[in-house]
Amino acid sequence: MPKPVCPESTALFPDWDDRRRGEDRLTVMLHNALSHVAQGRAAPTKDADSIGRGLSQFDFRSAIPIEQLLDWTVEQLRNGIVQVTHPRYFGLFNPAPTFPSECADRIVAAFNPQLATSTTSPVAVAIERRLVQAVAQRAGLPDRSAGHFTSGGSEANFTALICALGHASPDFAVSGARAFAAPPVVYASSDSHLAWLKIAHQTGIGRSAVRLVPTDAGGRMDAQALRQALRDDMACGSRPVMVVATAGTTSAGMIDPLRACAQVAHEAGAWFHVDAAWGGALICSDRLRGCLDGIEAADSVTIDAHKWFATTMGCGMFLTRHENVLADTFRVETGYMPSNNPGLDPYVTSVQWSRRFLGLRLFLSLAAAGWDGYASHVEHAIALAEHLKAQLSARGWRIANESALAVVCAEPPDGYPAVRSIVRDVVASGHAWISTTTFGGRDVVRMCITNGRTMIEDVNLLVDTLQTFGRWPQHAGRDRQMHHQA
Ligand SMILES: *Cc1c(COP(=O)(O)O)cnc(C)c1O
Repeated sequence: MPKPVCPESTALFPDWDDRRRGEDRLTVMLHNALSHVAQGRAAPTKDADSIGRGLSQFDFRSAIPIEQLLDWTVEQLRNGIVQVTHPRYFGLFNPAPTFPSECADRIVAAFNPQLATSTTSPVAVAIERRLVQAVAQRAGLPDRSAGHFTSGGSEANFTALICALGHASPDFAVSGARAFAAPPVVYASSDSHLAWLKIAHQTGIGRSAVRLVPTDAGGRMDAQALRQALRDDMACGSRPVMVVATAGTTSAGMIDPLRACAQVAHEAGAWFHVDAAWGGALICSDRLRGCLDGIEAADSVTIDAHKWFATTMGCGMFLTRHENVLADTFRVETGYMPSNNPGLDPYVTSVQWSRRFLGLRLFLSLAAAGWDGYASHVEHAIALAEHLKAQLSARGWRIANESALAVVCAEPPDGYPAVRSIVRDVVASGHAWISTTTFGGRDVVRMCITNGRTMIEDVNLLVDTLQTFGRWPQHAGRDRQMHHQA
């Protein structure tokens, strides 16, 4: 093999033998690091000072050998992040990634295909289309549905609002918010994902266009309150453009009444979007998909592959029953792109322009496991959540959320320290990673089963750890004494 002409560039473009040695070495390093994550701490041990000191050695003037840099980087990540691949990571919806999705990332990084057009990457664009159709059908949308991969749920939700605004006023594309004689309004529950505020800002209708509809005592959007809110707004001369139902709220895994929300939306001529970023994975399970009853009435749906489908981040999906809406919304023409085909070219049907081949992550995962494999993955997580609820209830904890999904919000028994203090002590112990949220206006411990390698022993260890810091708090000793005296 001829060596590259410029010797300095070998750091960037090594010859094939050096590249191979580097890759093999990295493979071994990652194996060693990841296969031992469970023995280490779930929370980072590096503080901001030591991270800053480590970084101050980089002046980017002298060249550093790649081996040294890779050693340094893997060590940083072993100790400087929350370990989502730890079997006792019970945090937000960030998964331990599936092995096929990791393989996909490696392949995609090596070939680096450009998915802006089908002309440049026909096979990659076709793979994504096939997959989007399969997921849309599985979600109950019509055969001729459209959609694409996104950087995550936020981009998919942003896409939904742009489509809804264009649907409400064809002049929106040209005139923006000025297209509306009456102020446009978007409805989502007070427990919805509040990226909706940023999204309303980005589309130019402003944060005040988001109406946060109250939830019932169970944390689901109150359909009656939704109907009333639309009525009140229309009476005041506003224009309801979109109703968002959340299928799996971020805090507590609650599913809004999808059918009732769809009816309210469609009666008012508004777009109905289902944000199933996390909970959408229930479509995999024949036993559980009924929980999403009504999703098939959606004009559009958000499902994140990087949540319960456990691909690497960031990987979301936007799906819509309206075949032409994306082409109408994102059309643009230039002389320098090799093609302009709204039926095929992602750059004229989506927010992004240059585009990574994200879909391969889910394509390989779904092809390797099948819907049944994913059904087991989802059902396993829910069974562990049920076990966690039973264990905590037996010890006097109160389960706050009646979720059918794999997230548990719990309040400790009377006499235990405050939720925030228990969570802080558990995280500091390194045994598990959990978080605090509020549900029904009260602080609760939030625990989500997100890792496909989490086993019943891990859940039992979490329960023991919670009890240890609940009954014998490290930092709350004084509070406890005061409590006893009172
Ligand atoms: C995670 C989540 C989002 C945001 O998605 P990102 O992938 O983080 O951009 C939106 N809605 C719900 C219900 C979510 O769970």
